[in-house]
Amino acid sequence: MGMKTEHRTVQLDQAGLDRVIRVGVLGFGGLGQAAARMLAPKQEMRLVAAADREGYAYAAEGLNPDACIATYRSRGTLGYLEQNGVLSPNSIEALMQQADRVDGYFLALPNLPNTFMADVARRFIASGWQGVLVDALKRTSAVEQLLVLRDELQAAGITYLTGCGATPGLLTAAAALAAQSYAEVHSVKITFGVGIANWEAYRATIREDIAHLPGFTVDRAQQMTDAEVEALLDQTNGILALENMEHADDIMLELAGICGRDRVTVGGVVDTRNPKKPLSTNVQITGRTFEGKISTHTFTLGDETSMAANVCGPAFGYLKAGLSLHRRGIYGLLTAAEVMPQFVR
Ligand code: NAD
Repeated sequence: MGMKTEHRTVQLDQAGLDRVIRVGVLGFGGLGQAAARMLAPKQEMRLVAAADREGYAYAAEGLNPDACIATYRSRGTLGYLEQNGVLSPNSIEALMQQADRVDGYFLALPNLPNTFMADVARRFIASGWQGVLVDALKRTSAVEQLLVLRDELQAAGITYLTGCGATPGLLTAAAALAAQSYAEVHSVKITFGVGIANWEAYRATIREDIAHLPGFTVDRAQQMTDAEVEALLDQTNGILALENMEHADDIMLELAGICGRDRVTVGGVVDTRNPKKPLSTNVQITGRTFEGKISTHTFTLGDETSMAANVCGPAFGYLKAGLSLHRRGIYGLLTAAEVMPQFVR
């Protein structure tokens, strides 16, 4: 027995940890920069590639996250990074051509238009690259576009994990776990509170949230100028209150066989002028046990944890899990509700 256990441990280590995982981050705004900072102290992962709209940086031996962030903030693009920066209007393609040694990418890109992430996935498929892709997509319709690519991802040797942020992501996975107590899941209710000091730090997140307000669409929110976004936020004192959002937690829980998508609801409050959360982010999972009792499990995030911590942490946890699947020959499309994330040391 002892021998067997030991052997299994070694196999698992070989599947995921025989060397440092080389990570790329596409999109270097609020989440992309937080992702770079999060990777800095990690032993198992190293930032080797990053891209924004106007340029990219690549170094197989590793990029300095602080230098990347400083360059992006002072000059507007990673393309000006000393030694490793390249200016390019097609930064993702250009990076793909140059970066031959990236194990996995976190796609911290805006999904504007709503087809953008699926387009990026198609470009990876066409490039011949093999590895792990992880996104923090939010809309059900965006995840549906990736589902169409399932077979192509599989054939290309790409393990794509979708919906791996906070919601969808951490909270969806918590719902999948909580469901195990029940014979039938009646409802999954996600309520999030986000506090950020200023909306400019997360422009895409805020635009995509505005797109959920009554009377708005993704296209309309994408076309709004920064001044128009500010004018809208002025009217609401910086608060966005969101109800019955089109959030992919529903399709992810349905695909995982946990409950129909009509039983999943998502809403929340975003304060764009105060880093303090306006309410505690939580998911309530109500169901019936095998004995016939109706009960509710509640999973509440600590108020001190930021959106960035709750998105980027799971994203890399799923990237690590995705890599161990990839090394075992498991490709295609998976969601955060199907796979357990692995803790990145
Ligand atoms: P942001 O606006 O702060 O930054 C976007 C970055 O992407 C910028 O660096 C920009 O230069 C870059 N970019 C834009 N177009 C590009 C292109 N064509 N090629 C290369 N780079 C490009 O964005 P953000 O607020 O960090 O949000 C990123 C995404 O994360 C959004 O889609 C948002 O909805 C999502 N998000 C998900 C969750 C979740 O819990 N699932 C939570 C928050 C945000």
